Amino acid sequence: MTIAEAYESGKFGLSFELFPPKTAAGMRSLSHHVEALAAVGPSYITCTYGAGGSTQDKTLEVISGVRQRHNLPVATHLTCVGRAADELADYLQRAWDLGVRNVVALRGDPPQGASEFTPPPGGFSYANELVTFIRDSFPAMGIAVGGYPETHRQAPSAQADLENLKRKVDAGADVIITQLFYENRDFFDFRERCETIGIRIPIVPGLLPVTAGAQIARITSLCGAKLPRSLVDDLQRHADDPVGQFEVGVEFATRQTAELLAAGVAGLHFYVLNKSKATERVLGSVQLPR
Ligand code: FAD
Repeated sequence: MTIAEAYESGKFGLSFELFPPKTAAGMRSLSHHVEALAAVGPSYITCTYGAGGSTQDKTLEVISGVRQRHNLPVATHLTCVGRAADELADYLQRAWDLGVRNVVALRGDPPQGASEFTPPPGGFSYANELVTFIRDSFPAMGIAVGGYPETHRQAPSAQADLENLKRKVDAGADVIITQLFYENRDFFDFRERCETIGIRIPIVPGLLPVTAGAQIARITSLCGAKLPRSLVDDLQRHADDPVGQFEVGVEFATRQTAELLAAGVAGLHFYVLNKSKATERVLGSVQLPR
C-alpha cells in the first residue's frame, strides 16, 4: 500500500517513525518495540535517513525487516544530502527491490556548524526537486514531504515557507507530515494557511511525547519547536523522578492528541524514538476514527 492509499477517501492514517539504531543491542530493542507498535495497527511505519552511508543501509534494513515481519507498508526517508541524482536513483531502486513503496522526501539539514545547505554536485538544492525526481523516475512511489507549523528555521518568512511547501505539493507529494509541535494552535493556523494557498492533500500532525526533561534542550535545538511553559514546569517539578516525568509527558501528549482528533486531523504521525510505551499509552487513551 502507498502513503496516498493510506489516506484515500478520508481514511485515517496512523504512522510511526523509527530511526536506524547504531548497535546490535539497539536493533534487538527496536524489534521488541516494533512488535508492540505493530499491534496498535499503524497504516505504515517510516525510518529516518542519516547523512552517513552505513546508517542509510540501516534505514533499508530496518524498514524491510518491519515489512517482512509485520506485513506492514513502510517508507524510507530520503534527503538530498551528499548524493548526486544517479546515486539517489540507485538507493530508490534498492528500496523498491526490497518492497518499499513510499518515500518521505526531504532536503536534509546543513552540516553542523554551517548555516546554509550546499547541494552536492549533480544533486538537488531543495526537497521539491527531489519530489519531481522521484515522481519522474519512480512514478508509483508514495511520497510524503515535511511541513512546518512553526515555519522552517531557514525560511525568510512564514509565507515564503508556505509557498515552498506548495512547490513540493505541486511536484507530486501525496501527503504532508509536520515537524513536531506542542501548541495545537500552531498546527490549526498552519492547516488554515495551507488551505488558503490551495494545498489540498492530507496534512498529518507530527507528535513527539516528551517523556524526560533531558529531551527539552534537544528538541528546542534540533528543530526549534516551542514547548509550553506549563509542560516545562511540570517536567521540572519531577526533576528527580523519571516515572513522574514520563507520566507528565504522556498526559500532555494524550491531551494534545485528543484535541487534534476532535479537530478532524487526517492522521497522526508519532516520532516514537524507537520506543513503544508512551505512544501505546497515548493511543490507548483516545478514540481513533476507524
Ligand atoms: P525544503 O522543503 O527544501 O525546505 C528547506 C528550506 O528551504 C525552507 O526554509 C524552505 O522554505 C526553503 N525552500 C524550499 N524550497 C525552496 C525553493 N525552491 N526556493 C527557495 N527556498 C526554498 N532530516 C534528515 O536528515 N533525515 C530524516 O530522515 C528527516 N526526516 C524528517 C521527517 C519529517 C516529517 C520532517 C518534518 C523533517 C525531517 N528531517 C529529516 C529534517 C529536514 O531534513 C530538515 O527540516 C531540513 O532542514 C528541511 O527539509 P525539507 O525537506 O523540509 O526542505
